[in-house]
Amino acid sequence: MKEIKIQDKQAYLEENYPFREVPDLSDRKECIHCQQEIIVGEYKVFVDDTGFEFICCPNAPQCSGTLIDWIEKDEWVDDGFEGFG
Ligand SMILES: [Zn+2]
Repeated sequence: MKEIKIQDKQAYLEENYPFREVPDLSDRKECIHCQQEIIVGEYKVFVDDTGFEFICCPNAPQCSGTLIDWIEKDEWVDDGFEGFG
């Protein structure tokens, strides 16, 4: 895995983001791998031997999380789950 530099991070994200709602570079999310708050625009891109590009956690390579591991901060809700019964 080799890190590559992205010139236009917003455009790159829009082209490569696998989900419908592309976040802004200024959005903050939480990476479930390293459990750190991350700023989307600080993502890193790594390319593997096959040429596939991964949008990775800003804390890569220490963190092996990629953008699919990023969740909205608001999703960390304590829903008061008390078990099934
Ligand atoms: Zn991470």
